Amino acid sequence: MLADVADVVARSHDLQETLGNVVELVVKKLGADVCSIYLTDPSLEHLTLWATRGLAPEAVGRVRLAFGEGLVGQAARERKPIAVERAQDDPRFRFFPGTGEERFQSLLATPLLVRGMPIGVLVVQTEQPRQFDTQDIDLLQTCAQLIAPVVMNARLLDLVARTEEERSRVVAKLVNSGLQLHGLRTAEQAPPPSVELRGSPTSAGIAIGPLYRLEDPVDLARLDYAPNPDEVQEKRDLQRAISEARSELDDVRDEVAERFGPEFAAVFNTHIQILEDKGFTGRVERAVEDSGNALQALRDVLDDYRQTFESIEDPYFRERGSDIEDVGRRVMARLLGVRHHNVPLQDGSIVVAKEILPAHFALLETEKIAALIAEHGGATSHGAIFARSLEIPAVTGVTGILEATRPGELAIVDGASGRVYLRPDAALRAEYERAQQRYELAAEHLDTLKYRPAETRDGRRILLTANVGLLNDLRLIEQHGAEGVGLFRTELLAIAHRGFPEEEEQERLYERVAKAMAPRPVTIRTLDLGGDKAVPLPDVTDEENPQLGWRSTRLMLSHEAPFRAQLRAILRATTRCNVRVLLPLIGSVEELRLARALLESAKEELCNRGVPFDRDVPVGIMIEVPSAALIAGALARECDFFSIGTNDLTQYTLAVDRGNERVAHLYDPLHPAVLALIDRSVRAASRAGIPVSLCGEMASNPLAVPLLVGLGIGELSGTPSAVPVVKEIVRALDAGKAAEAARSALEAATVEDSHAIAAACLREAGLLDHPDVGSWLRGLLGE
Ligand code: PEP
Ligand code: MG
Repeated sequence: MLADVADVVARSHDLQETLGNVVELVVKKLGADVCSIYLTDPSLEHLTLWATRGLAPEAVGRVRLAFGEGLVGQAARERKPIAVERAQDDPRFRFFPGTGEERFQSLLATPLLVRGMPIGVLVVQTEQPRQFDTQDIDLLQTCAQLIAPVVMNARLLDLVARTEEERSRVVAKLVNSGLQLHGLRTAEQAPPPSVELRGSPTSAGIAIGPLYRLEDPVDLARLDYAPNPDEVQEKRDLQRAISEARSELDDVRDEVAERFGPEFAAVFNTHIQILEDKGFTGRVERAVEDSGNALQALRDVLDDYRQTFESIEDPYFRERGSDIEDVGRRVMARLLGVRHHNVPLQDGSIVVAKEILPAHFALLETEKIAALIAEHGGATSHGAIFARSLEIPAVTGVTGILEATRPGELAIVDGASGRVYLRPDAALRAEYERAQQRYELAAEHLDTLKYRPAETRDGRRILLTANVGLLNDLRLIEQHGAEGVGLFRTELLAIAHRGFPEEEEQERLYERVAKAMAPRPVTIRTLDLGGDKAVPLPDVTDEENPQLGWRSTRLMLSHEAPFRAQLRAILRATTRCNVRVLLPLIGSVEELRLARALLESAKEELCNRGVPFDRDVPVGIMIEVPSAALIAGALARECDFFSIGTNDLTQYTLAVDRGNERVAHLYDPLHPAVLALIDRSVRAASRAGIPVSLCGEMASNPLAVPLLVGLGIGELSGTPSAVPVVKEIVRALDAGKAAEAARSALEAATVEDSHAIAAACLREAGLLDHPDVGSWLRGLLGE
């Protein structure tokens, strides 16, 4: 089905053609006599028949239904499929003369949903009465899920083209006053002093190396826009560039699918669809006639598209503008003969770009990249996720970096703190070189010892799992010897999709993770969107106080359909009995009950469809809000495990935004108040006889490990690369002594005191003299 949809994308050149190809495909796949597509009007109040195979072609554009009217309108309003064996006997049926519909008996309609929004309805009909079974319904729903984004993109492209045709043509601003030319300083100028810049910590790790500025493949300010008298030649060049860009995109899509999993390749389908779109290509051709220059034409059209997209209010749709921009630049690059593939990257380069894009990983030789710095973007962008998964240190949102970068010059990137040093002096460089060496040597050696158990000297076994969010991360689990997935962050898929991912795609992802890990445990967390993990959903607007706002489970409880879809997808992956469900940011028993009720209804749905799953799948909650820690006893009676999320628990307990530089010095999970809430949660869990794990960054913090072991945490889930170090610490500890230290830390008056207690624990366990981690730990303690 995926391949068929990709084929439709490749063969369709405008909205009507896309819809026509879709109905042909569905008729073929379902063996139906009729397939029709109704699309929602912009007002979201009506549906109009846009394409059909089987009904009278004249009916297209003429049949119009209100939401809720007839079986089709009902499917749109209720956002779920409707199957009727004898449609004409159904009181909801609405007959339209002239459609030829009277011949058909049975009807199956399923909504086309994009992020839960009905953008249309896909309908099949048969001449013979047919009782559609769950398999038919599932198949049509799968079709609808795959087709909905394609239809939406085609529609959006159509919309942009139409509105722009009606608008007066935008005069392109040729001399781009805002554009700066880079690299024009001359060698005679004195070398500027070293500079420290700050950005968002995006992917941890230290790198020291020469800077490589990943130029926009096209520097718009330097191009030759003179008209060419040979217009035919210009058009031919343009055609060639478009078809080269098209096949380049095919390669990129395949490469990304191969390296990172099919879910990430979907982005490039959108790009291919744009290049195949007649509206886009036709506009550029006409623009060549206007300006006599293909480059100028592309630039004009891109400017037009950009302005239109920027004026759209919905952030989801607005972002689509960047897809068009991306594609347009790719065509320009081909027009200029610039080959992305030939980026002459030196080994160990620090790549500086406007933003980190998924395509960079497919086109650059990733093994030569020591670190990435981006002027824009944040830690949750696609590119940032890729960087973390590949363990490439990265800092994003570094204002002014492109302007300040002189290619070839030395720089230091500290991905954990978000610091970038340009032209560091010898002392700073030596300091970072030492830190880097200490870290790398230790890490390498420890990976070779990964099969040893994480057991304290006195025999207490700690489960060391890892936090992941991509298929590619599973490789890191194996490399660093984690014992399972302690936290699978499902929102990465949502971020990649810029909205709720489709159920089927989630099913595939969770199934692959569960299978790859079995029999090791996998804890899958339900969507934790909002807060610092912004996802452009239409109803999530800028909030004054997003960390205290509509996020995580709160948000999902008001998006029941996608929440249940995700729960169904997780349940399907439970057949090997190694999967647990984790609910984030639970603040009250009421919230837990509401979420569990949805899980029960998801189970019911699967039962009705005869889908196998583990009825007793353990359901846990994250303790991330002080209220949850304070009523942990009541919560423990109604769930199967706790996972303490100290990243959030720290920010809420200390009232310190976890992402705000200005208060970063106040953010400390070793604060006695945070320790007290952890202690309270662990005690409640132990009284209720349920296990408790900890999955915040604290689980990877060497200083915190003795205290966490001492507080009685049974599972630590952290960054995969930190697992070996944490294991060495656990193996050197005595659980009894750690418990004493934890008790003193709970009594500590200040953060300084609790740090000193933890440091003494590491010292007493002989860890500061450990051959692998000793010098690194001493560095961490400032010794
Ligand atoms: C946490 O809050 O500690 C946690 C693990 O969740 P996240 O960092 O994804 O918010
Ligand atoms: Mg959290």
